[in-house]
Amino acid sequence: MAENCLFCKMVSGAIKPDTVYEDNDILAFRDINPQAPAHVLIIPRRHITSLNEIKKEDAGLAGALLIAARRIAEDLGAADAGYRLVINTNRDGGQTVFHIHLHLLAGRPMKWPPG
Ligand code: AMP
Ligand code: ZN
Repeated sequence: MAENCLFCKMVSGAIKPDTVYEDNDILAFRDINPQAPAHVLIIPRRHITSLNEIKKEDAGLAGALLIAARRIAEDLGAADAGYRLVINTNRDGGQTVFHIHLHLLAGRPMKWPPG
């Protein structure tokens, strides 16, 4: 656990998120400021600062995050209509919480290019 990390506090239970999925390695909860009718954040329980810190030995965990996203999309009823996954990384990516997370956005058509 990293000190002063908001998402580590959710993993530890110090802050209670609106959880939609969890397993031994992963926690997923609703974004407090949703950008779509369904907006879920999918995080590893282990603190990893950003995608820049993902190593080859994290391949299993990275894959598990994607598998969790697929399952959550199904549970939300969004799989057929579609959805978008986003990983914001550092300044130009628009990252504001420095504990790696996937955004799962669903429930409306997404635009391209993104803002
Ligand atoms: P990013 O900007 O990619 O780092 O995403 C961080 C996300 O965390 C933003 O979409 C925020 O709305 C979301 N967020 C911040 N605080 C909370 C919180 N307490 N509970 C749930 N989501 C949060
Ligand atoms: Zn953290």
